[in-house]
Amino acid sequence: MTATVQDTAQEARQQTTKGLYIDGAWQRAADGGTTTVRCPADGSEVAVVVSATAADAERAIAGARASFDGGPWRRLTDLERGAVLLKVADLLERDKAAYARAEALDTGKRLVEAEYDIDDIAACFRYFGKVAGLEAGRVIDTGRANAVSRVVYEPLGVCALIAPWNYPLLQAAWKVAPALAAGNSFVLKPSELTPSTSILLMETLAEAGVPAGVANLVTGTGRTVGGPLSSDPRVDLVSLTGGLSTGQAIMAAAAPTVKRVAFELGGKNPNVVFADADWDAAVDNALTAVFLHSGQVCSAGARLVVEESIAERFVAEVVERARRIRMGGPFDPAAETGPLISAHHRDQVHAYVQAGIAEGATLLCGGYIPDEGALADGFFYPPTVLGNCRSGMTVLREESFGPVLTVETFRDEAEAIAIANDTEYGLAGAVWTSDASRAQRVAGALRHGTVWINDYHPYVPQAEWGGFGKSGVGRELGRSGLDEYREAKHIWQNIAPAPSGWFGGEPSGPRE
Ligand code: NAD
Repeated sequence: MTATVQDTAQEARQQTTKGLYIDGAWQRAADGGTTTVRCPADGSEVAVVVSATAADAERAIAGARASFDGGPWRRLTDLERGAVLLKVADLLERDKAAYARAEALDTGKRLVEAEYDIDDIAACFRYFGKVAGLEAGRVIDTGRANAVSRVVYEPLGVCALIAPWNYPLLQAAWKVAPALAAGNSFVLKPSELTPSTSILLMETLAEAGVPAGVANLVTGTGRTVGGPLSSDPRVDLVSLTGGLSTGQAIMAAAAPTVKRVAFELGGKNPNVVFADADWDAAVDNALTAVFLHSGQVCSAGARLVVEESIAERFVAEVVERARRIRMGGPFDPAAETGPLISAHHRDQVHAYVQAGIAEGATLLCGGYIPDEGALADGFFYPPTVLGNCRSGMTVLREESFGPVLTVETFRDEAEAIAIANDTEYGLAGAVWTSDASRAQRVAGALRHGTVWINDYHPYVPQAEWGGFGKSGVGRELGRSGLDEYREAKHIWQNIAPAPSGWFGGEPSGPRE
């Protein structure tokens, strides 16, 4: 039978389709399944990747387990592993253009933002590459002359690393880099919507010298491959960055095997502005706080909490500027922000806005689905501001994860703190004031994992990132971010062994 052009194209695609990487080799799904990744800015096809089955995830876990139990990676010194991570950082910088393009196409974000992401990813690998070897353990003073005691750190084993779609490789890197630095093997599962840069990463890790079997990749849906990754007894840790309900499902699935969990979940983050704040900086940053990456940022300052005396003028300026934000695709030089990740997500964001209005909020700008021109081809949603918001409204309680700013007002410092803490989440927040003492008081009172004073969004890999309350479990980045991937072991040595004499009376010399 003669092959058609379509058959040939399909065959070529099957040969090059990636996504399932086990024991250092690209593999096909057990059922041959694939999925098409599309750019959310215009629906164009970006890639066809493997859609793994649960059996594929189990194979990847087996590969990671074998490499951990018998392979060389965990037996290297910390400094040797650190050197490989530094090489990864160099390679990411060498291949920045390819990485940034892949990230921009998968997410729809502007190319320049994807380029910043790759810089941050390289910085993350470089940080953990340098920290490896500096945190080898410590000697303990036991208070006894006959004992030498030290605490050492060892890798956990096999780590399941589950990443979201908003900062696909960045969030993965916050897990991959410390997991490798500590000597673990891992199975990475990117979001099914944004797998391309994780596929590139496998090749970069191999080139840098990570041995086969240590780094494994499974592309597939959370529903299909998430089960084995969360419940398999061969997995020692599940680290998720994702939504609250996903964290709850993974925690339940992980409970029977009492594996470690580490979660970076959602946020409902307050941006508190006092009347004495630097006006221009506070207005400008109120916009970036919430509308950066069209609000698809876990730490987005989606709740503007502004002092009543300035609220009307402040909000009017924010609204006037929000209306002028230009939306567009990744390679549109005029675009200031991109689309939402999917039609489903855009519809959810729109539903939150409508629920807010139904519960009494006032729509000040945005709040519609564009249906004309190029924007109609993608999943765009305009910057939206809701005034007159009150505690208890759904749009104040739940994360919309879109470009939606709610406005609440306060009369004094105590009320500002109470409103800012009026959330089950606790990821991040900011306070804007020119009163240095008040800035410190408020920062100290906020129950959030990151607090900015007169700024919004900056982070560095040297400082811990994570949330209070339902924003997560544990911390990424910083020294705590390495500890998530290590077991502490206490080793005690008696250098003058003698009978303890606890049982059978006085110590009586060597036992028979
Ligand atoms: P999501 O929870 O839908 O998906 C995250 C990942 O979990 C994906 O890879 C998905 O396939 C997988 N998954 C889904 N169900 C699963 C299951 N039952 N078992 C195992 N894995 C499963 O989240 P998302 O929509 O990709 O990302 C947005 C969310 O991520 C937001 O809530 C956002 O706040 C959060 N986030 C948090 C941080 C942070 O640092 N705290 C950073 C980025 C994003």
